[in-house]
Amino acid sequence: MKILLVLAHSKIKGYLLYQLTSSILQPSLTLAQLVAITPEKHRIELVDGRYQNINYNWDGDIVGISSLTYAVNNAYEIADEFRKRGKTVVIGGYHASALPDEAKKHADSVVIGEAENSWPQLLEDFEKGEIKSFYHSNPADPKNIPPAKRILQKNISIVSRIQATRGCPNRCEFCCIGNVETHKFRKRPIENVIHEIKSLKTQSFSFDDSSLTIDLEYTKDLFIELKKINKKFTCYGNINILNDNQELIKLSKEAGCMTWSIGLESVNQESLNNAMKTNKVEIFEKAIKKIRKHGIMVKGLFIFGFDQDKLDVFHNTIKAIKKWEIDLAYFSILTPFPGSALFKRYEKEGRILTRDWDKYTCGYVVYKPERLTDKQLFQKTKELTDKFYTLPKNLKRSFDFNNLSFSRFASKFLYNNIDKTYIKMRMKQEK
Ligand code: SF4
Repeated sequence: MKILLVLAHSKIKGYLLYQLTSSILQPSLTLAQLVAITPEKHRIELVDGRYQNINYNWDGDIVGISSLTYAVNNAYEIADEFRKRGKTVVIGGYHASALPDEAKKHADSVVIGEAENSWPQLLEDFEKGEIKSFYHSNPADPKNIPPAKRILQKNISIVSRIQATRGCPNRCEFCCIGNVETHKFRKRPIENVIHEIKSLKTQSFSFDDSSLTIDLEYTKDLFIELKKINKKFTCYGNINILNDNQELIKLSKEAGCMTWSIGLESVNQESLNNAMKTNKVEIFEKAIKKIRKHGIMVKGLFIFGFDQDKLDVFHNTIKAIKKWEIDLAYFSILTPFPGSALFKRYEKEGRILTRDWDKYTCGYVVYKPERLTDKQLFQKTKELTDKFYTLPKNLKRSFDFNNLSFSRFASKFLYNNIDKTYIKMRMKQEK
């Protein structure tokens, strides 16, 4: 059987740097994971919609489309086009898992949640002519998650992506990880993860895990094994755990960690108390210094527009991150994704302004903020982004006096520019 797997991408295109970097630095892990769980007897073709076009005259049997919310309208258009041509279409991913009935209007079948158990079953049913409308399976057993198969991807990536764990037990109000990975935290056996990392063709990789600080013993054991392999990586972690665990930071450095990406989310403690109870602003600076002391970069992820955010949050953020000497930062506008607790609350309060999923990019205001107007929220986030990413500031941030190598400078400068491009691209619709 011939299968086409598509990663849908939003219609907001046009940034050559984005297309280039997604191909070189962010190869799709979803597509590689889907290839890995597809029985070998089938022939598979891939389209990464971020930088590849679709051939609607494709001559095959079944099309599987994965999509996040911001790209789902595009996924629906692709699905409709293929169905017009008589192909069977399956849709999965975070959005379809939250709103399966909506996705079903454009597909023969919808995969809800993780695909490890349901996708092979769906293919078997399809061959028998018995495909079901919905496939909902329990979270995958981490022992049975196979290594991602990257061989079919047509790109020249210099970074790979991998997952050691799935799920997150935290329940941040704005997060929709529960749509697919669930809140059940699961760890792949370390030998399986190390085996997959050893097989990567690239020298660098990123852990796509929601956080590598959930089970410290597991992560420490993983880092000890990683020390034996000469690879570099980036990963996500929680600030409160990193602050209390110097040993973990040290081990991560020895294992090859270049950057800890941390959801700091806000410098406004009131906002954090509601949205993400584990973060305490008072420890941010201390924790960032502890990580940077080891020569590891810190990337802070920030969200604006929490109910407690007032106009001063923008100025306070710029002031704080300058003082902390943060290496990289990413700014988002709060977005209530379908499936999140935030979406449910805003819907109940009548505060969802639009269900145009194209606008759910984290760069657009899709709900009615509490203490800001929607225009202020958009404009101030944009101004802050412009202020943070001026050329002189990017250059200054890229000089690392603890590490005066050209490669360090180049990677910081490159990532500063990439982040700026991504944020701007996501805000583009407002123009
Ligand atoms: S935002 Fe991060 S820490 Fe919070 S629930 Fe989601 S994955 Fe977990």
